Amino acid sequence: MSERRPYVAANWKMHKTISETGDFLGELHSGLPRLPADGPEVVICPPFLSLAVATEFCDESTVKVAAQNMHEAGSGAFTGEISAPMLVEIGVDAVILGHSERRQYFGETDQALAAKVAAALEAGLEPILCVGETQAQREAGETDSVLEEQLTADLSGIPFSRIHELVIAYEPIWAIGTGLTATPEQAQETISDIRNVINRLGGDGDRTRIIYGGSVKPGNAAELLGQEDVDGALIGGASLEVESLIAIVRAAS
Ligand code: PEP
Repeated sequence: MSERRPYVAANWKMHKTISETGDFLGELHSGLPRLPADGPEVVICPPFLSLAVATEFCDESTVKVAAQNMHEAGSGAFTGEISAPMLVEIGVDAVILGHSERRQYFGETDQALAAKVAAALEAGLEPILCVGETQAQREAGETDSVLEEQLTADLSGIPFSRIHELVIAYEPIWAIGTGLTATPEQAQETISDIRNVINRLGGDGDRTRIIYGGSVKPGNAAELLGQEDVDGALIGGASLEVESLIAIVRAAS
């Protein structure tokens, strides 16, 4: 049996104000079933402004809180940025790094990501590192090489012995926010390939949690998350409604 504990992360992107965050978490806490110790870890990733209220709400519960980005430096002249120690001070547990929207719209590079992954681990945050291919790359048969390049670069700032401390999110770009979903077979096959890449890099692929993201919904979660190598989900749109997030958590249980 796999020792990898399921992981379900809700990426709210730029949605929900502070008060909406409080309302959501109140409903989540009353609606979420009591999960066994080896049941799914549930992680809420709200916008920066809502992180403090989220960590207060989740203080007494098993629900974890993640930021959606951070800067690699601890402090400095980087207007508009937030550092890992600032996140840790308010009780944040994890941080999404390398989401395709940040790579695409904000010019996030693999070089910066290598530094961010190292800085997050150093500060005690769990990095949720996103990797994925475009539709054109998949059609050209380049999925494996694209993922290997991203992982090699993004993990280059940490010792291979620490790779299993990350959660890797396989997010095919063509499936994010589009309603298109990778088939369970595509998700399984690609995530299994990612384990092999991690092993080739010197890490422990079998021990590393690798989750799938891309239009996961209550209706497709059980099949996707039932695949042997799929350890959970990173959910965008469907995580904005308490009931659908709870339904996906149940599917991961
Ligand atoms: C995401 O933002 O990581 C994501 C997977 O979004 P969606 O579930 O809306 O496709």
